[in-house]
Amino acid sequence: MDQSSIDALAQAPVGPQGLFIGGKWVSAMGGASLPVTSPIDGREFAQIADASAGDVDLAVKTARAAFQSGVWSRAAPAERKKVLFRIAEAIEREALALAVLGVRDNGTEISMALKAEPMSAAGTFRYYAEALDKVGGEIAPTPGNVLGLIHREPVGVVGAIVPWNFPMMIGAWKIAPALAMGNSVVLKPSEVASLSLLRLAEICAECGLPDGVLNVVTGAGATSGEALGLHMDVDVLVFTGSGGVGRRLLEYSARSNLKRVYLELGGKSPNIVFADAPDLRQAAKVSAAGIFRNSGQVCVAGSRLLVERSVHEEFAGMLAEEARAMKIGNPLKLDTQAGAISSEAQLARVQHFVEKAQDEGGALLAGGERILTETGGSYYAPTIFDKVAPEMTLAREEVFGPVAAITPFDTEEDAVRMANGTDFGLASAVWTGNLSRAHRMVRAIDAGVVHVNTYGGADNTVPLGGHRQSGNGHDKSLHALDKYVNLKTAWIAL
Ligand code: NAD
Repeated sequence: MDQSSIDALAQAPVGPQGLFIGGKWVSAMGGASLPVTSPIDGREFAQIADASAGDVDLAVKTARAAFQSGVWSRAAPAERKKVLFRIAEAIEREALALAVLGVRDNGTEISMALKAEPMSAAGTFRYYAEALDKVGGEIAPTPGNVLGLIHREPVGVVGAIVPWNFPMMIGAWKIAPALAMGNSVVLKPSEVASLSLLRLAEICAECGLPDGVLNVVTGAGATSGEALGLHMDVDVLVFTGSGGVGRRLLEYSARSNLKRVYLELGGKSPNIVFADAPDLRQAAKVSAAGIFRNSGQVCVAGSRLLVERSVHEEFAGMLAEEARAMKIGNPLKLDTQAGAISSEAQLARVQHFVEKAQDEGGALLAGGERILTETGGSYYAPTIFDKVAPEMTLAREEVFGPVAAITPFDTEEDAVRMANGTDFGLASAVWTGNLSRAHRMVRAIDAGVVHVNTYGGADNTVPLGGHRQSGNGHDKSLHALDKYVNLKTAWIAL
């Protein structure tokens, strides 16, 4: 990866994008489209199709027809595996171009985007390609006069709705296991960042995925997302995004065909620093990355720093130093450590939380303002509020931006109470040199992920999912496969 290749790719024109249905590009019915504005400079550089309910219906019917034909759903596992491996390789070959396209769309710094987007997506396709013929049905230990077989069957048509922060990574977390199990998919990317997923759909077709097995409908959530959620012929809905939209999807299910709904939602993840942390400076460095990389637009961002009172001042000072030293700016530059906020709407939301924190008595330690306005892009300084009381808005609600809240605590019990004191339960971290305390905290924190003396571990082998209002179900690992299969029991008289 060198700067001149990135600069050259960043100039590539992007034509108007269609919907990808039945293995080909089609226009939205009525020709509706939405502009794509880059948060790097505020300029429009592409257009995506704005799908209507009719377009979604066509995509679902196409997916159902492909499923029923058996071309993929009943293909030999070895055949499905071959195609998924080819997709992984094709993504890797095109990784830099895919990463640059995605960065132009959502503003993630390229150093992170390359790893977290195409390379991670390729790894996910490879992981599920390897897994798909290692899982099968079971023979139940039934009485001797009967044989009980437990079949694992593909569910049918999977609707996948994903957000803008890591579209390829999160898209792959849904698409790859769904395809591995033999399902057909209708994917609805975020209208804020659709481009890399549109190209991914085309790559899948080029690699031999049969027509109609993966379809992509772009457009506004309130129309195409709702239509997918309400569709009577979608069997499972898998979603990553905000809690508000997650609630709507549950309603859509209740109002339509009771489709299964799996939600990966937001968080307000506590990052707990004890005075016995092995290396306070290292804790500050990693914690800064844990909240400020991708400008805080990370579901597992460690946005609540709970710090033992005896080291609170020292740690807060170190975190502020780290924040001020971060290189913020054009996400297409290799040395940028945090790029742009994905959209003006998201930047306004960040600003709103900052103003609220000031009104409610938070002490601003760093940042607190929009920066680099001369670029025309959407940039925000890494921001830290100290002395954030647990009842303040900033301690309870997800900002999804580069804003950290620091709260001092006195005892381990206080730390646990504060850590579990929000509606969320996605990620968390504990910094301590005491092994017993580390294990006690892992047990006590009510969250899907607990890091110890690190932050932001990512690997396909481990599940990612939230507790409480951070969601249900899991992405990644073999556990994710359960979302994409139905169990069926066969009783055979002997
Ligand atoms: P969002 O909920 O606004 O949008 C997510 C998707 O839902 C988009 O594709 C959008 O078009 C669609 N949508 C919007 N309104 C809809 C409706 N009425 N019906 C159906 N679909 C609709 O979320 P976002 O702003 O794109 O992403 C940020 C959120 O995602 C944050 O809360 C973040 O924490 C969460 N997130 C969670 C994880 C995780 O793994 N838990 C990962 C990344 C992001």
